[in-house]
Amino acid sequence: MIQTIRGFRDILPDEIQVWQRIEQEAKNIFENYGFKEIRLPILEKTEVFARGIGENTDIVEKEMFTFPDSKGKNQTMRPEATASIVRSYIQHKMYARDPEQKLYTIGPMFRKERPQKGRYRQFYQINAEVLGIDSPILDAQILVMLNLLFKRLEVKNLSTKINSLGCPLCRKTYNEALLSFIGNTENLCEDCERRKTKNPLRILDCKVESCRNQLEGAPLLKDYLCDECKIHFETLKNCLELENISYEIDDYLVRGLDYYTKTAFEIQTRELGAQSAVAGGGRYDGLIEILGGPKTPGIGFAIGFDRLVEIIAAKNGENNNIGPIVYFLAFGKKASEKAFKLCNELASKNIRAEMDFSDKSMKASMKKANKSNCRFCAIIGETEVEKGIISLKNMELGSQEEILEKDFISTMEKNI
Ligand code: AMP
Repeated sequence: MIQTIRGFRDILPDEIQVWQRIEQEAKNIFENYGFKEIRLPILEKTEVFARGIGENTDIVEKEMFTFPDSKGKNQTMRPEATASIVRSYIQHKMYARDPEQKLYTIGPMFRKERPQKGRYRQFYQINAEVLGIDSPILDAQILVMLNLLFKRLEVKNLSTKINSLGCPLCRKTYNEALLSFIGNTENLCEDCERRKTKNPLRILDCKVESCRNQLEGAPLLKDYLCDECKIHFETLKNCLELENISYEIDDYLVRGLDYYTKTAFEIQTRELGAQSAVAGGGRYDGLIEILGGPKTPGIGFAIGFDRLVEIIAAKNGENNNIGPIVYFLAFGKKASEKAFKLCNELASKNIRAEMDFSDKSMKASMKKANKSNCRFCAIIGETEVEKGIISLKNMELGSQEEILEKDFISTMEKNI
């Protein structure tokens, strides 16, 4: 038996209804806020991510599926969407038409992480990004939009964590302060030793206990923000309060990607065990320039689609079996032809209809009808053909009535 690769999985028809519902709600809400859908390739030149996400991040150093093309140039299965969206914004000169673009995309991402519950090598994200707007009111609007989506999906026990990562100016002063504090500590893990020279901020994010302990009393970014970044963060908090969005400030929230500036956030849940982040994002005012575009601010987020499904499916149970409205049982050639035509006509009128193709006994066919979870079973046998009628069984009530064949479609239209 051939099986999926470790960390890759099928999403089966039984599970798909939750995925579709989430996707629909997300699209509705995003479009109400003026976002437009964009679909991007899964394979990109490696430099899109290496330059965009940062050479010294976990994603780029260890987690990308990268392989050479026929000329030896590296290409990568996208590990995230933001860098691709920015690549597209620049490639198609979207900024020339209108620098302000609100875009969303939904699709698979690929990271070579150790597979475990809530962590896959192919996973799905729902991304929304706004390019060209630097107002902190937008940052708040993005968080309000995310909270609205989770509310519509009835996801509870969430907390919104926010932090400000400052701009390159204030971060430089902060990094110096952090490094001089860390200078006195010993036994940082191997990764953090490297981070000291490459990206000191990421030490705050380390999950290793000894590193965490040694960070006690470390200087905090919020005390080093320049005036502009401070006002940005204050405005964001005020706007969240205006909309009654409860939030927590997490001084250690830095996120794993290099491109963030000012606002960073994560939505966490208490319902997922270790993998508690269900969405994350932030502002990336330098990224467009890093990837070769004009100086343009940006902000966005990614929702972990798999994790969201897990929370919702756990609550709602797994019974997603939506059956047809009508299930046809036909016996004999003439009856089968009638069922064939009526079934097509119903489906063309947006009424879910299926037929049994097996040509078995009434008892066996009725078993299939039951299993299909249909609302009505339409029976066409020899008698029905002779009389020009269809026997319609209401599966919930168990009652049965005869309907003239010519009235069948209109009767079904009235019944749904
Ligand atoms: P990130 O791009 O790392 O900020 O991830 C954004 C969201 O995607 C996270 O909050 C997770 O919910 C989800 N996510 C990230 N990596 C994985 C993974 N390997 N498997 C499943 N979901 C993931």
